[in-house]
Amino acid sequence: MNADLRTPPHLSRRSLIAGGLAASTAALLGSAATARGTQPPAVLPGGSAGGRKRVLRFAHPTDIHVQPELKATEGMTACFAHMMSLADRPELIITGGDLPMDSRATPEPRSRIEWDLFKKVLADTVPAAVRIEHACGNHDIFGQNRKASGLTGSESFFGKKWFMDAFGYKAPYRSFDRAGWHFIVLDSMELLPEDDYRARLDPEQMAWLKADLAATPASTPVVVVSHAPIMSVANFLDKADTIWQKTSIDLVIEDRRMHTDCREIEAIFRKHGNVKLCLSGHLHLLDRCTYNGVTYICDGAVSGAKWRGSKRQTPEGYGLIDLYSDGSFEHTYQGFGWVAVGKPLAPAAAPAAAPAAPAR
Ligand SMILES: [Zn+2]
Repeated sequence: MNADLRTPPHLSRRSLIAGGLAASTAALLGSAATARGTQPPAVLPGGSAGGRKRVLRFAHPTDIHVQPELKATEGMTACFAHMMSLADRPELIITGGDLPMDSRATPEPRSRIEWDLFKKVLADTVPAAVRIEHACGNHDIFGQNRKASGLTGSESFFGKKWFMDAFGYKAPYRSFDRAGWHFIVLDSMELLPEDDYRARLDPEQMAWLKADLAATPASTPVVVVSHAPIMSVANFLDKADTIWQKTSIDLVIEDRRMHTDCREIEAIFRKHGNVKLCLSGHLHLLDRCTYNGVTYICDGAVSGAKWRGSKRQTPEGYGLIDLYSDGSFEHTYQGFGWVAVGKPLAPAAAPAAAPAAPAR
């Protein structure tokens, strides 16, 4: 058997799900494949004929959305307990954001309950020896929707300050080195007037990203983690079918769903040439695409469809990534055996008719 398509002995076929294009996710469910960071070696990263050495295993659980309802706390516990019980457990965890169900449009007392749950589950399941880093998601921006949250904006913990204080961060983005790799954790959420946001780096963070990569040796491979995808094919399947049809027959991606500055970010990556892997969440869908030598993976969601089962064909799970000394990687979307108690939300009513095609 090809060593790169083996089933690790500690993982059952049932719980192991390979990464792949969103459109082919269903076909891959239950397969024993581990997604390699390589295809044709001339173009894609991750290829190594042999002699490579694994230097780090890390986990990327994203979109946890913990809350007291729908057994979400038990679900998050099951996820992290599963991760930590692997015979070959990860040495590093980078969460992808959207940690509580919501603290953006939720009154403070309720948000505090969800954050307390999040911290308690982490403390109960992850040993201190395992480093944990967090990316900031839209649902982590405390009270940003002032009307819905009842906050004024003058609170000392308002907005991203809560997230930073919770984990002792000076900024919602940062970088660090580990095992010969460089890790960049971005803050995807640019705040807009009217309490809104879009997926974009503000000018200050963009300048920081350029400087950070410029200061990284070209020989050091880089992993980037952001809440919203920098690039994603699952976006074309993300919107409710009914809204999609109603809005336009064109394939339009909302500015909340994917980095609107993807061209600028991609150009920066291309200039430096050592960014290998970009991980994201936000869509709760599993996809993978490669462009100009960088692989972009949207890593599903721990919560699936917010604890109501799979979202489309992506079930509850988390990313498990092996990094190698030669700059290659392997990625697996790892289930943790969760069976949702929440019923799927009813689909929205179908539109009366799809819009007519414009004249060409
Ligand atoms: Zn999100």
